[in-house]
Amino acid sequence: MGIQATHDAYIALGSNLGDREGYLHTALKAIHGYKGLRLTGLSGIYQTAPVGYTDQDPFLNMVCRINLSLGPFELLEALQEIEHDLARKRTIRWGPRTIDLDLLLYDREIISTPSLTVPHPRMFERAFVLVPLRDIYPDSAIQGTSLGECIESSQDREGITLYRSSEDMCALFTG
Ligand code: AMP
Repeated sequence: MGIQATHDAYIALGSNLGDREGYLHTALKAIHGYKGLRLTGLSGIYQTAPVGYTDQDPFLNMVCRINLSLGPFELLEALQEIEHDLARKRTIRWGPRTIDLDLLLYDREIISTPSLTVPHPRMFERAFVLVPLRDIYPDSAIQGTSLGECIESSQDREGITLYRSSEDMCALFTG
């Protein structure tokens, strides 16, 4: 039997409807329980003011790291399946989404296709992605782009507060 090659990916999670923290936990459990995916890192949870369409409730955002044996397109399908499973459980039809899962990074790959762009095209402008990513990303820069500088120049950085620390999240999942 050959040794299975594994990869590392970073996923952004966001929810602004109902039991927001509950949806994040359910999504994390679904990711960890999915065949070929394993959680290896959890950022803190941050409460963030909505960006773009601002007439909605604040979000809870976080980032997780996974180790996986799936390819990037299979991973995108897995994330969409998990999103749909969670969305099916919501009570208000066509209501705001309970959970949004975005693929931020897959190893150091650069992917540019109609269905998948990696690194995620808007991640470097969004403090609500970069601030949690910084909790668990091992380097201070991604492909030569400094995380700290991107956070400094992002427009939404003022609206972000820590809701639950990375240590508390890890204790919840391992304890
Ligand atoms: P949204 O649910 O609004 O985040 O958008 C999902 C759509 O974006 C899907 O049709 C995906 O095919 C596409 N997409 C492109 N790149 C990515 C990515 N890195 N992560 C998640 N969805 C992506």
